[in-house]
Amino acid sequence: MYRTHTCGELRASHAGQTVTLAGWVNRRRDHGGVAFFDLRDRAGTVQVTINPDLPKETLDRIADVRFEWVLQIEGLVQKRPEGMANPKMETGEVEVIAKSVTILNPAKTLPFMVSSDADLPDENTRLKYRYLDLRRESMTRNIVLRHKVVKFMRDYLDKQGFIEIETPIMFKATPEGARDYLVPSRIYPGQFYALPQSPQQLKQLLMVAGMDKYFQIARCFRDEDLRGDRQPEFTQLDLEMSFVHRDDVLALVEGLYTAMLPAVAPNKKLLSSPWPKFSHHEVVEKYGTDKPDLRFGMELIDVSEIFAKSEFKVFQSALSAGGVVKCIVAPKSAEMSRKEVDALTESAKGLGAKGLATLAITAEGPKGTAAKFVTEAEAEAVKSKTGAKEGDLILFAADARAIVNKVLGGLRVILRDKLDLADKTMMAFAWVVDFPMFAWNEEEKRWDAEHHPFTMPQLQDLDKFDTDPGSILSDAYDMVCNGYEMASGSIRIHRRDIQNKIFQMLGHSDEAIQAKFGHMLEAFEYGAPPHGGMAPGIDRLVMLLADEPNIREVIAFPKNQAGRDVMADAPSEVEPKQLKELHIQIRE
Ligand code: ASP
Repeated sequence: MYRTHTCGELRASHAGQTVTLAGWVNRRRDHGGVAFFDLRDRAGTVQVTINPDLPKETLDRIADVRFEWVLQIEGLVQKRPEGMANPKMETGEVEVIAKSVTILNPAKTLPFMVSSDADLPDENTRLKYRYLDLRRESMTRNIVLRHKVVKFMRDYLDKQGFIEIETPIMFKATPEGARDYLVPSRIYPGQFYALPQSPQQLKQLLMVAGMDKYFQIARCFRDEDLRGDRQPEFTQLDLEMSFVHRDDVLALVEGLYTAMLPAVAPNKKLLSSPWPKFSHHEVVEKYGTDKPDLRFGMELIDVSEIFAKSEFKVFQSALSAGGVVKCIVAPKSAEMSRKEVDALTESAKGLGAKGLATLAITAEGPKGTAAKFVTEAEAEAVKSKTGAKEGDLILFAADARAIVNKVLGGLRVILRDKLDLADKTMMAFAWVVDFPMFAWNEEEKRWDAEHHPFTMPQLQDLDKFDTDPGSILSDAYDMVCNGYEMASGSIRIHRRDIQNKIFQMLGHSDEAIQAKFGHMLEAFEYGAPPHGGMAPGIDRLVMLLADEPNIREVIAFPKNQAGRDVMADAPSEVEPKQLKELHIQIRE
């Protein structure tokens, strides 16, 4: 037996026991003939004391022991003397007095220290030596948290009657709006499997199969551009249910997350229970985005009416072109410096605005770039409509509605960070429902599915297909939290005729529909139950729960931001023989 206990579990109640531990030397200190090793395993760290009365042979052997050597230690657990306890260590009440020490494996000097988070090297070095990076306590904690999240999901869903079913990784293209990763077939020259962008089709087919309530901790593969915090593969809690309406799915997921939070992250609190629910239209008008951060107010307020007769050219030209004037109120920001306002103006321009008009409410009256052009009556009306108080700064955008929303939505997030408006312990979950079914793809001059093509249009809109597809709403929904989209889902189409119609709307020819989705359409003819589901992302959830800035911190072996695995060096070239077998020739 290598060990009787883990290092991290020892407490005062173990005093008097002889234990055997195995782990890594986290630190070593030598003090007047006595050596102290902090021995570490996944559970934690404990102080081991090596007294000079051990046999000389043992003392000689351990003289060389350095950071990260792997040791087995047999010793006596002792309560530390009064006043010597270390409250910073969970095991700080005890020490282990070594009786024997076995060196299981020495270690070279590591490329960076893992006993603390100080002096971390750049991310590529961390990822190259990820197996060392993960030894750090903070990373171990993230990985354990991830396990707890997934375990909670599995247990909860099991109790709700769900079963976990694996679906193939090698399958056929399943569109979620990204490029597919393809796997060439050796046996069928010129033919390819596609890695699923999600198990969408398969989970729907499981509903046709009568599986009723399915879930899977599913890996999804999307070959997308590397902008932002993305990984080529990521993990979702994929779920699907039969005989449900939208609100049944939302209630299930809301129940799961509400129960999970105190169990896995007791330091986090929910904004509200039940969660707020917004229509897509409402949320974009209020927050300028369909993934709002609700941890703070600063809603977008439409002041077009107040400025209907304004002399201010900027407002006037926007309104007469059919646009709007909206504003947000930045609390206690009237004193913002010229330089700070200029920076906000630059951000606004980056978001598509022509400029930024501001009104600072001060004791001496309104100041700011719009002060000269806004009448006293208008300023008063804006104050009373927005609730802006002395000391606040009002930021206006005047343009087409979509631009105004995007600009103010973007500024709202910039101001959140600048003014530190969001409570870091808050998880502000909310639902967004009633999405448009289609989005116009200007580049390709055709309609795209806003969610995915298997989403059910709302029944009252079914007759708008030929007249006004842009106004058709779908039964799709998103879960959002703290400014992130955390999950998407929908009630699905379960009728062949509607599914066919959607594929046609999206510009697929009948032959293409048959070749790509014939199996789905055929399945719908054998008694497909009404069904729906969703897929909350796991990486981003754990990232928020762990207070990490990006998802790479909560994935054991992520790709770097350039999409490479720098540890194993992948992607990499392969043997010419392998290419030949796959009937592939590389063109220079
Ligand atoms: N398959 C969808 C996605 O990956 C989720 C769903 O509709 O269930 O976003």
